[in-house]
Amino acid sequence: MSKSIPRVKGMDAVLPERTPIWQHLERTMQALFSSYGYDEIRLPIVERTELFKRSIGEVTDIVEKEMYTFDDRSEGSLSLRPEGTAGCVRAVIDKGLIHNQQQRLWYAGPMFRYEKPQEGRYRQFNQIGVESFGFADSDIEFEHLLMINKLWGNLGLNDVKLEINSLGTLDERKVYKTLLVKYYEDNKSQLDDDSIRRLTTNPMRILDSKNPDLLSLNEKAPKLIDSLGEESKAKFDSLINLVSQAKINYEVNPRLVRGLDYYSQTVYEWTTLSLGAQGTICAGGRYDSLIEQLGGRKNSAMGFAIGADRVILLLEKLNLVAERAGPAVYVVAVGNESDATGFNLAEQLRQEFPRKTIKMNCGGGSFKSQMKRADRSGALIALILGEDEVKNQEVTLKYLREEGKQIKIKQVDLCDKIREELGE
Ligand code: ATP
Ligand code: MG
Repeated sequence: MSKSIPRVKGMDAVLPERTPIWQHLERTMQALFSSYGYDEIRLPIVERTELFKRSIGEVTDIVEKEMYTFDDRSEGSLSLRPEGTAGCVRAVIDKGLIHNQQQRLWYAGPMFRYEKPQEGRYRQFNQIGVESFGFADSDIEFEHLLMINKLWGNLGLNDVKLEINSLGTLDERKVYKTLLVKYYEDNKSQLDDDSIRRLTTNPMRILDSKNPDLLSLNEKAPKLIDSLGEESKAKFDSLINLVSQAKINYEVNPRLVRGLDYYSQTVYEWTTLSLGAQGTICAGGRYDSLIEQLGGRKNSAMGFAIGADRVILLLEKLNLVAERAGPAVYVVAVGNESDATGFNLAEQLRQEFPRKTIKMNCGGGSFKSQMKRADRSGALIALILGEDEVKNQEVTLKYLREEGKQIKIKQVDLCDKIREELGE
């Protein structure tokens, strides 16, 4: 026997016992997005490395150390997408979808980052994302927040909080950066190596540091919100007003800067206390400069991404998981010609009850072993076809969830009987 091949670290299969909850999340979010008028876009998983360098930023954890990059045989340097926004913007520019029009889009799928795998942090993980193009005002921001809040509600998650901040305009951020660099220079002895490096490359990211030793230093740092001009402040205030009127659970977090370079004005994260260090389940904001940065004509853009794996973990932790339903019927067929009759009756039932699962025994086996499989499948009813039943055009129904109950009926009466039993 040859040796089995181990999986790639941080990339795992979702086993059948967990797929129903993924499907539940997917169905819930699809219905929700569609109810707000958002259309799905399906994007490639591989893009040119240049795209992520130019959008996410050269001096970010993602581009510096987390990308899966390789040389294609003819296309040069390509990368597995670490997030969805850059590729979505590239596609809508490429296809002319944002020229003189507005777009409300959503996508879902796997993303790849070379990170240290742990609960809620994987190398292949799934995001559900929304991007809107061509909306300059904060009403679209409110719509996104409303929609996310509704998703948590529809999933039964109420321990989720919105943290929100404004990064202002590029000019406002420039002024702020000078203040911030001065503050950190004055306290340089307290910085770690990573932060000292960031001081020259990307000082605002120090605020985002996960190092607990920097917590108190960061708490006392100048606040970006104090450097905002009248217009940015007014925009932010009007959004906050709408959010609080809608009774969304929120907090303004002046240190929230987000790890990606392309954001401006509104940024936010949704967090839960139930997932420990990996408590952020959604992040987003406005990124008006990105379209131009990627070669398109200046246009407004706004979006968010939900960490689907973390939402699933949360649903499981809070026991908001529906039981996996077994089949309605399992067909047990023993003896001559019983297989043909079994397949035939199973097809009739599937035709009649398209939403029910009808499972046919395959691979033969004795009566006893087939009954064991029927029981293990979680089916409500076993349809039993032995030689006698086939000869007399009958079928036995054994009720697997009720002790000892079984009846024999004519095959022609089967659909009516099953309808009665399933209450259809
Ligand atoms: P974190 O601070 O947890 O690393 P991030 O700021 O890098 O998150 P984003 O790029 O904003 O994350 O991605 C949006 C969401 O996608 C995150 O809030 C999180 O829920 C999820 N996410 C990001 N990276 C991973 C990962 N490696 N595994 C699972 N989920 C992830
Ligand atoms: Mg990260």
